[in-house]
Amino acid sequence: MVKSVFEIKKEICEVGHKLYAKNFVAANDGNISVKVNDHEFYCTPTGVSKGSLTPDMIIKVDAEGNKIEGKLNPSSEIKMHMRVYRDRPDVNAVVHAHPPVATAFTVADIDLDQYILPEAVLTIGDVPTCDYGTPSTMEIPDSLEPYIQSHDAFLLRNHGALTVGCDLTKAFFIMEEVEFNAIICKHAMELGAVHEIPNEQLKKLMELRKKMHLTGRHPGLDLEEEKPLAVCSKEELVETITKRVLEALGK
Ligand SMILES: [Zn+2]
Repeated sequence: MVKSVFEIKKEICEVGHKLYAKNFVAANDGNISVKVNDHEFYCTPTGVSKGSLTPDMIIKVDAEGNKIEGKLNPSSEIKMHMRVYRDRPDVNAVVHAHPPVATAFTVADIDLDQYILPEAVLTIGDVPTCDYGTPSTMEIPDSLEPYIQSHDAFLLRNHGALTVGCDLTKAFFIMEEVEFNAIICKHAMELGAVHEIPNEQLKKLMELRKKMHLTGRHPGLDLEEEKPLAVCSKEELVETITKRVLEALGK
């Protein structure tokens, strides 16, 4: 069902209110965008709290992030949204926020790559930390480059998080999942131990993801064949590499 312009704007406001209510943003932080087609996108304006967004504030921009319609102006952070739409035709919505616990992992320089919750393993896998970039410059869009094709969630070092989805609900749910996973991981670290889900069980989750035909990209899946990948144990990896080296040496 095709949504009306008002419905799209209303949905962006609702997600903005949730981001603010969940303390994922402070002051005027964060931004949300939705793709209508290759040339038209709706997004939140600069200088407005996500907690007080109303549909009349939502603006329309082109594929370069230039304003087409609206009273207010786009955020300078719209550049990273546009980079995602350019490089990922499967993405129809982008959410950027500063979820405190997930962001703190980047400040502490701890990767958010612990496989601890089945739901998070199924939906996002590990969350890469992109290099630090100066806000409003092309440094942040460029920092997404190494991970953009294989992930739907990204941490921005000393800054926040970016999530993408086939629709806005999905992109928002991934943002929630990233922060929830970070909170549980932090609690487990404080309690003294982080026990990850064993490799055998991870493989089962990847098979399950395949059966469920979940949308989006996942670092545990081969992009072309959608086969479980990157979830083998270190021992298996060493064994495979040794075998290939010996084969190459003709032994
Ligand atoms: Zn930001």
